[in-house]
Amino acid sequence: MFSYRHAFHAGNHADVLKHTILIALCKYLCGKDTALSVIDTHAGAGLYRLDGDYTETSGEAKEGVFKLFQASHETAVQQIQTPARPKKEAPKAITPDDFCPALQDYALVLRGLNPKFAETGDASQLKIYPGSPFITQQFLEGRDKLKLFELHPTDFKSLSGNIAQLGAGRQVSVAREDGFESLKTFLPPPSRRAMVFCDPSYEMKSDYARVSACMADAVKRFATGTYVVWYPVIPRPEAHDLPRKLKTLAVKASRPWLNAVLTVKSSKLTTDDEGDVVRPGLPASGMFVINPPHTLKAQLQLALPQMVTLLGQDRNAGFTLDSGG
Ligand code: SAM
Repeated sequence: MFSYRHAFHAGNHADVLKHTILIALCKYLCGKDTALSVIDTHAGAGLYRLDGDYTETSGEAKEGVFKLFQASHETAVQQIQTPARPKKEAPKAITPDDFCPALQDYALVLRGLNPKFAETGDASQLKIYPGSPFITQQFLEGRDKLKLFELHPTDFKSLSGNIAQLGAGRQVSVAREDGFESLKTFLPPPSRRAMVFCDPSYEMKSDYARVSACMADAVKRFATGTYVVWYPVIPRPEAHDLPRKLKTLAVKASRPWLNAVLTVKSSKLTTDDEGDVVRPGLPASGMFVINPPHTLKAQLQLALPQMVTLLGQDRNAGFTLDSGG
């Protein structure tokens, strides 16, 4: 039933977007006086090797995390070697020192897991990529709790092993359950503070409808939680409708919302030298947040243009950032 393995996609441009936003949310929400419950409905394996077979086969991280840091590192090296002033008309080059605060925080998380990368800034030294469980766990404090759900037997085993090594005790729990279903049992949380991260693989068409039904139910049970949904931007009606449905649900519930979309390339099919059709891979993805912190939009107004500059592959690259409520 499940063929999706996040290891093939770890560190791609969609992960750069989703994890930059996840870090900004964790930084804002964790460690307050009142405990926060974080529920990660689709957790994945927790940690991924960037030099492993899966990631190298797919090559997706080359268009994501490697590109982000290689492009900025090369600019920094060039500026040291040729410190002449850039031409007036040249687009502003971005070095890691120029990163906006949200991307600085993303870089910090990656440096923490990759000591040689931290030392040199060289993206080829990135060996480990953190999934959402490892990212969130780093920000938990005091009585904050993290509940992880993962259905794939192999990824569940890897996740359980990776989490056990953290020695986080009862602060982090892992269950091989359906995240859409199990979420219900945790809402409302006893402390009345929660963030739900819903990041399915959309391997099955039914995932789109399950996301909107699950979010509608969750908002009914606990209106003030922060709900975060990642979705692919692909030419399929269900994918197109999902952010619209989430917006309608937020508006009907009178809750504030934010929708950020990062496009790195055209979605058009092309042909290769032999005339065979080449699919472009994932051209864009979005993060929809219900009840976002008031600081998130300003942070993304700085982060998204930098992501476009560093990750954009053709002139279709761009972003949208909408909010309401
Ligand atoms: N959230 C992870 C991260 O950011 O690192 C990546 C998650 S990956 C996109 C989606 C995961 O959901 C896969 O590992 C898949 O096996 C798992 N999955 C699929 N359907 C599920 C369900 N109904 N409940 C829980 N996990 C599910």
